[in-house]
Amino acid sequence: MQLRYNYRVYPTPGQQASLARAFGCARVVFNDGLRARQQAHEAGEAYLSDGDLSKRVITQAKRTPERAWLGEVSAVVLQQALADLNAAYRNFFASLSGKRKGRKVAPPRFRSRKDNRQAIRFTANARFKVLDNGRLRLPKIGDLAVRWSRQLPAAPTSVTVIRDAAGRYFASFVVANTDDPLPPVDAEVGIDLGLTHFAVLFNGKKITAPKFLRRAARTLRRLQQDLSRKQPGSNNRSKAVVKVARAHARVADTRRDWQHKLSTRIIRDNQAVYVEDLCVTGLGRTRLAKSVHDAGWASFTAMLEYKAARYGRSFRRIGRFVPTSQTCSTCGRLDGPKPLSVRSWTCPCGAVHDRDVNAAINILAQGRWESLNACGAQVRPAPVPAPRREAGIHPHTACSTRSVEGISAL
Ligand SMILES: [Zn+2]
Repeated sequence: MQLRYNYRVYPTPGQQASLARAFGCARVVFNDGLRARQQAHEAGEAYLSDGDLSKRVITQAKRTPERAWLGEVSAVVLQQALADLNAAYRNFFASLSGKRKGRKVAPPRFRSRKDNRQAIRFTANARFKVLDNGRLRLPKIGDLAVRWSRQLPAAPTSVTVIRDAAGRYFASFVVANTDDPLPPVDAEVGIDLGLTHFAVLFNGKKITAPKFLRRAARTLRRLQQDLSRKQPGSNNRSKAVVKVARAHARVADTRRDWQHKLSTRIIRDNQAVYVEDLCVTGLGRTRLAKSVHDAGWASFTAMLEYKAARYGRSFRRIGRFVPTSQTCSTCGRLDGPKPLSVRSWTCPCGAVHDRDVNAAINILAQGRWESLNACGAQVRPAPVPAPRREAGIHPHTACSTRSVEGISAL
């Protein structure tokens, strides 16, 4: 399995300028490639192959006066920008033909200088290197200072350097073979994810949703108002933009750290984890959208999934069409749909059910049944973000100690 390890990096002003140039060159190559393919398509010509495109927008372009400056950055960065474009096209075609399941993928779009997130990728070919003094050497950029919040478990195969909307820089390493099986345990767990509680376990434990976004709402509103009062195009406005982005980044960081702690705990204590697969995209369009977004179920279940794979546990999503909240977990009777306002109900067999606990029990039963009848586990091979510092407390989470206590009560 591949994992991503993210670290904050602190480039000097000179290195920031080199990085800005590299971001710009990667963006230009990406956009030139996209334009060439679009024009070929409009002219009714054949799809430009990856090799032809690379020759046209990198090799030949470097020889023209308009694009000569592409030679100032590492060639690998430019090739990787085109690789992103090719991957975007492949996903788009696979989605069109129905080979790719799930949501429809849109055709690639042009990248903008004003995009919040700028990124470039160096592969092993680029000879990036972690030096003995802890600095990260990037070709044609320099030796960057890195805050190593945790150790890299193995040599990385690639590194992506990112500048986010808040103006922070990160190095994101991809590391292969990080499997680290834990000693087996007997317990298994079914989890019902919801809005009244973030998660309800089959044994009746309920984990309150911390609502990070709602808690920060007042600060965010104030910063947003400050921003709207600034003159367009002014320096004060761009400063205010960064402030808003920083505040949002803090909310996202706190939420992620909380989810890491909870998911690590659940994976460590259970041999098998079953979760109901929610229709997040559907709910995101309702008036619950803000709460759904704030809960972040998708990132949480993704964490459970990769940690299960990494620590030798099994993980399974239960289809959202299984009527887990309508079935009595004692006698198995299907009692019909119940509106969300119904928090508890009594089955004719005499059992009194808490809606969510009953659902979690059914999820556990369904998960066990499905894994007995399954033909092989599904593990997604794509790199997933690694926990930054699971055990320790991130400076930004100092404000969320209440919810941390909630987890330790599990
Ligand atoms: Zn019953």
